[in-house]
Order: sequence, then C-alpha cells, then structure tokens
Amino acid sequence: MTQSCKHCHAVYEDGADCESCFHALLAYENERPAAFGAVHHITVASYYLQHPAGYTHEALDHWREVIGRALAGASIRDLREFSGKTFEGSKRVREPGATPPAWWPVSWPLAIQSVFVPDSIPEVDDYVDRAREWARATIRAIDTAASTSDTPRRAARR
Ligand SMILES: [Zn+2]
Repeated sequence: MTQSCKHCHAVYEDGADCESCFHALLAYENERPAAFGAVHHITVASYYLQHPAGYTHEALDHWREVIGRALAGASIRDLREFSGKTFEGSKRVREPGATPPAWWPVSWPLAIQSVFVPDSIPEVDDYVDRAREWARATIRAIDTAASTSDTPRRAARR
C-alpha cells in the first residue's frame, strides 16, 4: 500500500516512511565512516529542511548554509565548527509549534526514499552520489520558492 508523508508529501510503500528511512540511513552512515564523512552533514540537513515543522527559521537558514558549504567542498571539521558557532549560547534549534516561512516548498523533486530505504545496502559511492543529488535538489527547490515569493527575507540575498 502506498501512503504519503504529511510533512514532505513523499509517496512511499509500507515500512518506508521518511522517519524509518532516516533512522536506517543514520545507522548505515554510522557503520561506514567513508559515507558518514562524505555526506552526513548534508543528509541530516536535507532531511530537516524537508521536515521543517518544529524548527526555528534560524536553524533552517543554518542547514541551507551547511549544504551550500558542503557541496562547495567544506570538510567535516569545518562544518562541525560552523554548526558549533551557530548553535552555541542561547540560539535554539527547536521551537515547539514552529512552522517554516509561508513560501517554503511543500513538495520536493527528490525525497529521502530516493537516497535510502530500510533494508537496502547500497554501495558507498552510489549512496554518496544519491545523497548529494538529494541535497542539491532540496536546495534548488528552496531557492526557487524563495525567489518567487514577494516576502522580503534573507533567502533572497545572493
Ligand atoms: Zn517526509
């Protein structure tokens, strides 16, 4: 039976809901340092950007920036440092009841199911390629939505 995610609207088969995929993906990365090192920051950021309910706008901006930097070649150490700086002190990631900006995309060209489904064991290289493609598509969808909205916002800046 197919169902669809109430957050990102991905259509999936039983057992391959986004959250199950995400947990399986994290387990896969944890067992494979090469995959973790190559794409961990962007898979986590892409997942949150497609499931933004309950996160602050500041956190959403941060994850967009993480993907941009990662795709431009930033190392995992740089990304960790960057995330540490953003979220130190009083800045919060979660905010109960928070909703994304009104212009935020409600559907996505690629969903997590295109990267990982439970019980699949992809080759690391294939996995890394798919993860990058997912992140690129996610950022492109957000940038497009931001540029066609008339609300002034940080996202419109280049
Ligand atoms: Zn979803």
